[in-house]
Amino acid sequence: MRKTLLVTGASAGIGAASARLAATRGYDLIVNYNSDRAGAEAVASDARAAGARALICQADVVDPEQITAMFARIDAEFGRLDALVNNAGVVDQTARVTDLTHARLRRMFDINVIGAILVAKEAVSRMLAQGDGGAIVNISSAAARLGSGNQYVDYAASKAAIDIFTKGLSDEVAGDNIRVNSIRPGLIDTDIHAKGGEPGRAARLAHMVPMKRTGSAEEIADAVLYLLSDQASYVTGTVLEVTGGR
Ligand code: NAP
Repeated sequence: MRKTLLVTGASAGIGAASARLAATRGYDLIVNYNSDRAGAEAVASDARAAGARALICQADVVDPEQITAMFARIDAEFGRLDALVNNAGVVDQTARVTDLTHARLRRMFDINVIGAILVAKEAVSRMLAQGDGGAIVNISSAAARLGSGNQYVDYAASKAAIDIFTKGLSDEVAGDNIRVNSIRPGLIDTDIHAKGGEPGRAARLAHMVPMKRTGSAEEIADAVLYLLSDQASYVTGTVLEVTGGR
C-alpha cells in the first residue's frame, strides 16, 4: 500500500525534489506551497506521471488557520498521514545583528520555527491516532552549527531551534514508532539565495566547501528519502549533515 506524505514548501528547490523522488518510491503526496502555484502544479504533474496520487494544497505556514485547513483537506482526501517533510523555510538579506528588525525576526521565526512546529503537531496527532508509526524529516541547515555571523544569525538561530525540537519531539514519540530526524543541508543550489537578495551566494561560497562545489536539491532529496524509509528504521532524534564536508 502506498504511504501518504506531506511535503511543505514543495513548489521549489529541496521540497520539490523530495516530492518528485518520493512519488517514484511509492508515496502519495500532499504538495504544499504558499505562493508558487505553477511550481506546485509541475511537481504534482510529475508525481502523477510516476503513479502517485498528488493533492496540491496552498497554505501559508505562518497562519495557524491555514495549517488547520490544510490538515482538514488531508483528512478528507486521504484519511491518514504516514510521513512529513517539514521543509518550508526562508532566509533574508545579509545583515548584522544591529540591523535586525522585529518584523524580520517575527517572519523568520513564524515560518521556520513556529510554522514547522505547528505542522509537526498536526502530523504527529494523526500518526498517534493511526497507531502504526510514522516518519518526520525536518529540514534544518548547516547554519544551525555555523551560526552565520555577518550573514543571517536569525536564520541560523531558527534552524538551531529546529534541531533541538527534532530531538525533543523524537523522544516524545519514539515509543509510538514515530521517527523524527533533521537534515542539515549545506550550500545547495536553489532559488532561496536569490529570494534572500543574493542570487550567486551558493556559487560564491563553494570554495569554502571541502568538496569544492555546491550540492543539488536532488542530493538532499536522497537523504530525505533515506530517513523516511524503513532502511532508517533504527534512526531517530538525529541530525544528518549533507554539506560536502563543510
Ligand atoms: P526555495 O527553493 O526557496 O523553496 C522554499 C519553499 O518553501 C518554496 O516551496 C516556498 O513556497 C516554501 N515556503 C516559503 N515560505 C512559506 C510559507 N510561509 N508557507 C508555506 N511554504 C513556504 O528554498 P530551498 O533552498 O529549497 O529551501 C528549502 C529548505 O531547505 C528551507 O527550510 C531552507 O531553510 C533549507 N535549507 C536550504 C539550503 C540551501 O542552500 N538552499 C541550505 C540549508 C537549508 P512558495 O514558493 O510557493 O511560496
